[in-house]
Amino acid sequence: MNIFQKKPMVAGLDPQTTNRLLLAELVLNSINDGVVIIDQNGLVKLLNPAAARMTGNADYSDALGLSYLSLMKLETGEGMVVPDSQNPLAKAVVNNQAWESRNYYLVTPQGGKTPVMITLTPSGGRTADRIITFRNIAEELAKEGEQTEFISTASHEMRTPVASIEGYLGLALNPQTATIDDRARQYLTEAHNASQHLGKLFQDLLDVTKLDDKRVRMNLVPVDVTNTVREIAGRQMTAQNNKHIQYTFGVEDGGGDKMQIDQLTYAMVDIDFLTEIINNLVGNAIKYTEEGGRIWVSVRADGDDVLINVTDSGIGIPPENLSHIFQKFYRVDNSATRTIGGTGLGLYLAKARTEAMGGRIWAESVFGEGSTFYVALPRISQEEYERQMTVQRNTQMMPIKPPVTTTANSLSGAAMKAVASQPAPMVAPQPTVAPAPTVAPAPTAAPAQPSQNTTSVIQ
Ligand code: ADP
Repeated sequence: MNIFQKKPMVAGLDPQTTNRLLLAELVLNSINDGVVIIDQNGLVKLLNPAAARMTGNADYSDALGLSYLSLMKLETGEGMVVPDSQNPLAKAVVNNQAWESRNYYLVTPQGGKTPVMITLTPSGGRTADRIITFRNIAEELAKEGEQTEFISTASHEMRTPVASIEGYLGLALNPQTATIDDRARQYLTEAHNASQHLGKLFQDLLDVTKLDDKRVRMNLVPVDVTNTVREIAGRQMTAQNNKHIQYTFGVEDGGGDKMQIDQLTYAMVDIDFLTEIINNLVGNAIKYTEEGGRIWVSVRADGDDVLINVTDSGIGIPPENLSHIFQKFYRVDNSATRTIGGTGLGLYLAKARTEAMGGRIWAESVFGEGSTFYVALPRISQEEYERQMTVQRNTQMMPIKPPVTTTANSLSGAAMKAVASQPAPMVAPQPTVAPAPTVAPAPTAAPAQPSQNTTSVIQ
């Protein structure tokens, strides 16, 4: 069957073009990856046999002209149906953005489920078509599951001795506990830095294996994202900024934009996930920005989303690297980054956590000038926020076991959540006041006044 159109496609074309189209058709018919091409209105222009199989459409020519959303129903790894209004693929389609994810299952009307890697590629041509592909990753996931278990056990076992090495090196470097000469200090400082790097690597690996394995249980609670992000980012800037970087939270120009200040930015989020995401983005902004540079964090409502952006005036990311930075272990390798430490796992984790909360993450950058990272989370209305707050309050009033204690500043927030079974008492009782109590109060960062604009140089 001709998969391109219901009518024969070769009429009126020269033989060479016809031949090329027939070859393209042959390829599309024979591959196991699903390919769907949709127009700018989301209507299916092409669907290959693999796509038809995976979406449960026996007669794929019937699918032509239908909305792709009616064909492709997605579920999360936790078995939650993704509503069209929160479908990250749909958002990427509307924004005509490149997007990819391995976090969803394709569900057929017959009840079949296939774990897939989905990619969306804007065609880039004159037509404004979008190309959606999906690959069955069931076997990959099974193999990764075995590897994950090994990595998880190994990281767990190695973390303890590394922490002990780091602790002893810290003692050796502390003038109150040891006396050493300058050369020894230099060597031990190097060793201490390396052991810290190793500790972070093991922790990131553990977090990756838990997220990949879907072993982390999310606890979505209603929050005012503006206040929560302001606090997390402020605390991170206070703790890590030793480069005299100018930090701004809120509207960039000092408050002309009243619309942004009045916007409601409520969302259902997992506080530990959000904390890790913001810590990573702000931590990177500090790491990849030079002395005296500038970082700007803001939160605003953007249609159905709450949009967080973290902008820096740092080293930037070359265009050829930009599409890879959310991959596992990917680090840009050039003269600007070679001396900056990192594991290449932070953005992978940030993407996995964002997508687990139904959101999207992406970046824009100009090499040599700076970068902006965006996190879009599904926005809820004030009524929904208040309803969810009531649900939370009622849940908390129910007699429950003593809550599991967690520390706010832990790198292993996600890991801890895996054992915490209570809804964390993380939301302030009133809509307008500040964020989650599980996020330790920022020593100096969160401003008391209502304005969103804070500019400071934190040393
Ligand atoms: P890393 O631990 O290496 O920082 P990440 O996964 O957080 O790992 O980031 C992946 C890579 O993306 C980094 O190695 C760096 O090359 C690039 N990168 C991330 N954030 C920024 C930024 N704000 N400015 C410039 N480059 C960045």
